[in-house]
Formats: sequence, structure tokens, C-alpha cells
Amino acid sequence: YDNRDGHIWMDGEMVDWREANVHILTHAMHYASSVFEGERAYNGKIFKSREHSERLKRSAEMIDFEIPYTIDEIEAAKAEVLAASGLQDAYVRAVAWRGVGEDMGVASARNPVRMAIAAWEWGAYYGDAKMKGAKLDISKWKRPSPETIPSHAKAAGLYMICTMSKHAAEAKGCSDAMMYDYRGYVAEATGANIFFVKDGEVHTPTPDCFLNGITRQTVIDMLREKNIKVHERHIMPEELEGFEQCWLTGTAAEVTPVGQIGDWNFEVGALTREIALDYEKLVRS
Ligand code: PMP
Repeated sequence: YDNRDGHIWMDGEMVDWREANVHILTHAMHYASSVFEGERAYNGKIFKSREHSERLKRSAEMIDFEIPYTIDEIEAAKAEVLAASGLQDAYVRAVAWRGVGEDMGVASARNPVRMAIAAWEWGAYYGDAKMKGAKLDISKWKRPSPETIPSHAKAAGLYMICTMSKHAAEAKGCSDAMMYDYRGYVAEATGANIFFVKDGEVHTPTPDCFLNGITRQTVIDMLREKNIKVHERHIMPEELEGFEQCWLTGTAAEVTPVGQIGDWNFEVGALTREIALDYEKLVRS
């Protein structure tokens, strides 16, 4: 990803894509003092852009630093990056981190806060799973308690769990992993939230120790508008067997059907297809 033409917004300026580098002693590199956003633009406009900028600011506050830009400034920077990319449909990545400075130990309060934004083309996150349903492994890693880490932050440190889970899943021929939380309840996938269908009603885990995704909230609103009952609750592993359909939601994943989790199979059913299509329409409306 580092060797391509284009421009990346860095600390208020557009820099050449290949020159968008940081020093090796950057605090974030050693201690994960970094937060980020994943956003998608459709027809030249970022879907729920402001919500993403707000979450970025909140994530930074949760891990003890303040991004030195207002929401409006971040919005303007993202628009500039998108325009410079020349792309209509794009993935937009904003990242903010503690840079290199006075401190090289765990504490970083005296190091500058930095920020960058890049945009590139990113097609279907799970490839052809959109049609036939993704196959998920069950991770041995659990989502941590909010008393262990600010689990609602979109912070780099939390993604170590996701990367390890996804590597293990891919080694078994799966597209992703579903993770349980520290109590053993069903939580989410490594970059997406999870939904289940049974008897025409929808069940999704309560987001009390993982990201309450912007796509998740959008899909819940869509379902409720259709008068479909949505139960946000704790879901036990034993219940998986009884669910008929399953899908994932995320900015990158959009709405992706799930065909299998471990030994359990799900049909790519009518409601899953309908919600996936409705979401596609909504983001372009
Ligand atoms: N959980 C995790 C771990 C994620 O990385 C993402 C993607 N940001 C999500 C859920 C879904 O969040 P959103 O719908 O806001 O993209």
C-alpha cells in the first residue's frame, strides 16, 4: 500500500503518497496509542461521515488524547482527500496517534498528536461471500471487559485480538472469525457486527464490550422501520444452532450473509438478502 501514486492528508497538509511516513520511535508503534476510522464513500459522498468523525474524536478521548482538529476541520480534510483521489466509490481511512517526542516510555502526554487521512478503492470485503455466505471460524480469543480496556474505542490496541483471530480463521479456510466476549456471550466478527434471524425476528448481541457499529445502528433502524422485531440481548453459544439466518454488518463488510459458523450452517435467506439490498440502496440515496 505504500508504493502508489496519490496524496495523503497528514497533519493539515496533502503529502505525496510515498512520503506519508512516520519515525520508527513513534509512540503509537510501540504502545498502540492510535485510533482510526474506516469509512466508505458512495457516489462521491462519505456515508455517515460526521458520525465517523465524531467517533474518531471520542475514541481518542477514551485512550487519553485529544485530536487537535474540530469535527468540521476533519470533515473538510476528508472531503479534500476524497476529491484528490478522483474516486467516486472509495474506502476512507482516518488515523490519529501519539507521535515521537519527549517521551519514549509508556507515558506519552508530552508527545504530539498526529493525524492522517487516506482514500483508496476497496471492493467487497468478503469477496464472493456476499452471494453465498461467509464461512466463519470461532476464535479462541475473547472480547475483553470494558474494565480491562475501553472496548468501545476504535483503537489499534484492540485490533491485535482481531488480527490473531482472523489469521487463525484464514489458516482454516474461513473468511473471518466470530469472537465470544469475556463472559462467553456471542460478540462480533473481527471487523463487523453480527445479526441472527429466527422465526422472522432478529437477534443481535448487546454492544456492551465491543463497537456499536454505525452500520449496525443503521441496519437496526432499517429493520424497525419494517416493523421487524429486533432483540438486542446477550446471546449464548448454545443458541447458534437454533438460528436460521445470519449476517455481518460493517462499513467495509456492508451487509454480508454468513453461511457457516464453526459446525453450524445458516441459509442465505430472504430477510438477509432484503436487508443487504436495502443497505446498498440507502448508502447511495
Ligand atoms: N466491530 C469491529 C471490530 C470493527 O472493526 C468494525 C468496523 N469498524 C465494526 C464492528 C463495525 O463498525 P461500523 O459499522 O461502524 O463500520
